[in-house]
Amino acid sequence: MERSMHQRPEFWRVAQRTCIIAAAVDIAFFGIFLYLNSPILAWVNVVSVVMYAVAYYAYGKRMNGLGTFLVWTEVIVHATLGTVLIGWDSGFHYYLLMFIPALAVTMRGTAAVVALVALWAFYLALYFLDFWQPPLQPIGANALLGIHIFNVAVVFAMFSYLGFFYAKSITSANRKLNRLASVDELTQLYNRRQARALAETELSRADRTSLPVALILLDIDHFKLINDVYGHDKGDHVLEYIAKIMKGELRQHDIIGRWGGEEFMILLPETDLAHAEYIGERLRSAISSYAWGTDLGHDLQVTASIGISQHKENETLNRLLKRADTALYMSKSEGRNRVTAIHEIPKHLVTN
Ligand code: GH3
Ligand code: MG
Ligand code: MG
Repeated sequence: MERSMHQRPEFWRVAQRTCIIAAAVDIAFFGIFLYLNSPILAWVNVVSVVMYAVAYYAYGKRMNGLGTFLVWTEVIVHATLGTVLIGWDSGFHYYLLMFIPALAVTMRGTAAVVALVALWAFYLALYFLDFWQPPLQPIGANALLGIHIFNVAVVFAMFSYLGFFYAKSITSANRKLNRLASVDELTQLYNRRQARALAETELSRADRTSLPVALILLDIDHFKLINDVYGHDKGDHVLEYIAKIMKGELRQHDIIGRWGGEEFMILLPETDLAHAEYIGERLRSAISSYAWGTDLGHDLQVTASIGISQHKENETLNRLLKRADTALYMSKSEGRNRVTAIHEIPKHLVTN
């Protein structure tokens, strides 16, 4: 129990909200039973409202054990009294069924099975009690039918709420997981795995349409030195800002991924080598002319080297990457802070 309390805060928020719904229902019942001349049941509902108010407060203070104890007690006592006083046909027993999902969510293993079997036994006991013991405070047939219909409606509404709540939780948990699996936390760019997957899709599209695709590899110059001189946190800031600069300079449908520590991959659909070189130059100049010192409070200079290649028909992503990597190497070896775009790997740099 303790474990799930911390693991599922949203579950306890639902429990808290359920207290409001239940209290509202009980206020309605107070009026209904006064009208039906059943003062005992009317006042039972006042006690119920107080219990739900305390349970609501308890959940708000994270005293989930107390809140749950109050809700359980209220529902069991209320369902029992309703059945004993006005009969099984009142439908108060349906509220006990709400515990099935509640138990399944909060308990595990044998304890959950025991609790569910106990609930089932209690439910049946109430049913058979109705055979042996006629209602102590019977009400008219029409009133009984009305209360039955009302209770069925409330239980349907509560189960629907629970169902939608769980469906929503699962969808949002899935969305979070997908994001965690595909986006780099620091830069909010695609991670390597996702960037590769998207790039591969883009290449096969290009093979179908025969439109050009270019690939940029961008690597920050002397980044190790930036870390060493200004600290790792400042290094992280630089990475974040570079990501922002790139997003600002590129189009919505360009794929930008964090390829490695301080290396980025950009796939430019519908872009040929000459145009990609122009874009690369724009990125290089935006990075080197950015007022790094203003943001980071240091006399910091950041530059990046860039290598660019253009996709050839039916070529794999790895081969395209290989040419961009060679071009990047050429930018580095020619002094950094520069852009190199190549159609072919120069003979002296061919490795395989
Ligand atoms: P070059 O100009 O040749 O690219 O040199 P460099 O120092 O940029 O390249 P090198 O590969 O020697 O160093 C990369 C450094 O990037 C080393 C590593 O500690 C740092 N790094 C990798 N990931 C992160 C990160 O997430 N945050 C920070 N602050 N540093 C990182
Ligand atoms: Mg580097
Ligand atoms: Mg590197």
